[in-house]
Amino acid sequence: MQRLDVETKSKHYEILVDQDFLDLVPAIRGLDKDFSSYHVVSDDNVTPLYQREILDALAGFGKPVHGVTFPHGEKNKNLSTMEAIYQALIENGADRKSLIVALGGGVAGDMAGYAAATYMRGIAYIQIPTTLLSQVDSSIGGKTGIDFNGYKNIIGAFHQPELVYINTATLKTLPRGEFTSGMAEIIKHAMIKDAAYFDFLELERERVQALDHEVLTSMILRSCEIKSQVVSEDETEKGNRALLNFGHTAGHAIERLMDFRMLHGECVSIGMVAAARLSAAEGGFPPAEAERLVRLLEAYGLPLAVPDLSAESVYEELFHDKKTMGNTLTFALCRRIGDSYLSKGTLTKAQILEALDQVM
Ligand code: NAD
Ligand code: MG
Repeated sequence: MQRLDVETKSKHYEILVDQDFLDLVPAIRGLDKDFSSYHVVSDDNVTPLYQREILDALAGFGKPVHGVTFPHGEKNKNLSTMEAIYQALIENGADRKSLIVALGGGVAGDMAGYAAATYMRGIAYIQIPTTLLSQVDSSIGGKTGIDFNGYKNIIGAFHQPELVYINTATLKTLPRGEFTSGMAEIIKHAMIKDAAYFDFLELERERVQALDHEVLTSMILRSCEIKSQVVSEDETEKGNRALLNFGHTAGHAIERLMDFRMLHGECVSIGMVAAARLSAAEGGFPPAEAERLVRLLEAYGLPLAVPDLSAESVYEELFHDKKTMGNTLTFALCRRIGDSYLSKGTLTKAQILEALDQVM
């Protein structure tokens, strides 16, 4: 088992990476808290795969153990699912000393985390992320929440977990497209912070794609480290946390224009290609490095363009992002692979359109 310490303003916790669930109970025991009951929240895809094993393990504490299952998918990350989760917590006797276990992808993590943030004004929770995206992204940073009336993640709270327990074997049941989509965030981490990590992703691609435990462990931990460093320097998203938006400015616009029919990581992949082109236009990002990015995305099976859209429509859509404060577009860009910065308002419409045109 490998571990990573995460230091946040409100909490210190560990991310553990293993290839089974055998150390979950010892890890929870190590928190040294006397939980009164355990509530495992997962969606209807993950419940039949992993919930029983977790419930059985937790039963070893000799306290009440309950499973809560909700219908999968982003479209269910909403208030009515939250109501059902609150109702289940009440019926199952959850109190201030209960532990919520978020088991599943980012949707389970965001919802179970938000339930934990709000139930009885906040109770403890742990994350057991089972998608690549949740293992390297959504389970870190303390953001929890739900969508509301078509606005993504508009209702939420910051709430840090007690522990994140990653079992790489869960990736074996994950649909391949979801795995590939998660790779986009990982490549993003390398692009914004770590050139040596980019080399690693190039060199180890076959073992990554074969789900080799050792390589996955190094990769997941390095990504967690990068995300948690960026976040801990900026916990409430006022400045440099926005570097994590590399590829996301255009990516989110594409995601919305495609009506969420493409996976998030696919849109981020295309957005990163656009950001690389913009970086070359604005900051002298070497074209050879942009080509390396393109080749790496392609090798991992990620898309490079979205021919169904026009640059003009994506440009318009950029201004509909809740992160577009005022009317200034902020782009995370790269000087070199592994070296990123935020560009505010210095890019012209023509430059942006030209970069977008290259991914249409
Ligand atoms: P998801 O939770 O919907 O999981 C994707 C699909 O995989 C689902 O159908 C799920 O049932 C299934 N699944 C999960 N684990 C599986 C496994 N091991 N085997 C088989 N199937 C499995 O989506 P996601 O991509 O994990 O997360 C996306 C969500 O994360 C979005 O709602 C997004 O807003 C959120 N997010 C949050 C943060 C944050 O900081 N809190 C960051 C990024 C994304
Ligand atoms: Mg993302």
